[in-house]
Amino acid sequence: MEYDVVVVGGGPAGSSTAFHLAKRDVRVLVLDKASFPRNKICGDGVAPRAVRNLYKMGLQERLDGRFNKFHGFRFAGAGKSVVENAIPPTPRFPDHGYIIKRIDLDSILLDYARENGAEVWEECEVRAPLVEGGRVFGVRAVRDGKEVEVKARVVVGADGAHSTVGRAMGLLVNDPLYLGISIRQYFEGVDDIGDYLEVYPEKEISPGSGWVFPVSETVANVGVGAMLYHIQRDRINLHRFFETLINDTAHVAPKLRNARPISPLRGALLRIGLGGSRVECPGMILVGDAAAMTNPVSGEGITYALETGEMAADHILSSRMDGRGLHHDPAEDSFRQKLVDRYEHYFNIGIHSIKWGNKTSFMRPMLAVVASHRWSRENLIRALMYMRH
Ligand SMILES: Cc1cc2nc3c(=O)[nH]c(=O)nc-3n(C[C@H](O)[C@H](O)[C@H](O)COP(=O)(O)OP(=O)(O)OC[C@H]3O[C@@H](n4cnc5c(N)ncnc54)[C@H](O)[C@@H]3O)c2cc1C
Repeated sequence: MEYDVVVVGGGPAGSSTAFHLAKRDVRVLVLDKASFPRNKICGDGVAPRAVRNLYKMGLQERLDGRFNKFHGFRFAGAGKSVVENAIPPTPRFPDHGYIIKRIDLDSILLDYARENGAEVWEECEVRAPLVEGGRVFGVRAVRDGKEVEVKARVVVGADGAHSTVGRAMGLLVNDPLYLGISIRQYFEGVDDIGDYLEVYPEKEISPGSGWVFPVSETVANVGVGAMLYHIQRDRINLHRFFETLINDTAHVAPKLRNARPISPLRGALLRIGLGGSRVECPGMILVGDAAAMTNPVSGEGITYALETGEMAADHILSSRMDGRGLHHDPAEDSFRQKLVDRYEHYFNIGIHSIKWGNKTSFMRPMLAVVASHRWSRENLIRALMYMRH
């Protein structure tokens, strides 16, 4: 079997890559080990920047009226106070985000890629890339209990933070500064949740940060996360942080007084800030979490999964459009350089702010100052969501 492009992983990054290639008549196959709809451990917050990408793909009708929108943010203020602000208006971004359980969002995206011409094999686990002379020319996978080999001119690794194909080619970098861990649980009967994303760097869980994201009027996705660098340095037990968050904090605990958990508490790894990963080798490029494309400050990765998927499609197609054909190896023109140009400066500021600034002694007074002016609140939101004018 031979395809122009094989995409490993049908999450947001893989679906976006496949959609943007299939729409331009590239023969693309997506392989995912899961059977969809499948769950993914996440906060389920779909930021305005991600919404812009989804709308641009033509998905507005499938989201509008079906899922909870959020229109602003609520932060812990000084003492027990909270500070809130609507998403600031900008001409380039919608004034809202969504909270969409990943079991729904990822199916919508994968179906959409399929409808637009991508072939999809679910329950097909990729075991390793096929490599000859250092060049990836396909993948070895298991489908219906049988081993299959699929050849492709280009392989795109969109298989998440533990990327099998990225690891096999030595592209993943495991530096604690570029890794994070987050855990989350759904609760029913949560008090006082509205259409705002609530983010709580409560002092009891510093240097971690908690969240309460409203999935519906009474159900919330509640979680806590921290950088691996901090977890190791301070010997943090994230499960204990979560217990503290839901039972003993000024802002979150009161909301959960009458609530009950409706899912197990689950955690997952985040690869953040472009993390030094090499993201390419001959015949293969990485996108989304496999390429460490999670925002170091907000922990948001859906935006960057969608964007790097589109960028990968453009990158692969650019060699065809400039006459070199799809046979030309896209890894020869640096994909990493494109990611660096677009994100590295922003991500580096985030990495260093979290590393040095995420201390209660610094964070609280800073937030108090920021919170006191609408102008600074709005700019904080723009910066966190990477929403430039
Ligand atoms: C607790 C937590 C909370 C988060 N909250 C948010 C949030 O609120 N908002 C946000 O934007 N981001 C959030 N993130 C980050 C976000 O979940 C990721 O950035 C996003 O899922 C990346 O998408 P992806 O397509 O790169 O990878 P994934 O969504 O992980 O998709 C990878 C796919 O590859 C498949 N796969 C893996 N290995 C193989 C294999 N060997 N063969 C075949 N298929 C394979 C998997 O089945 C999966 O479908 C959170 C992360 C965590 C851990």
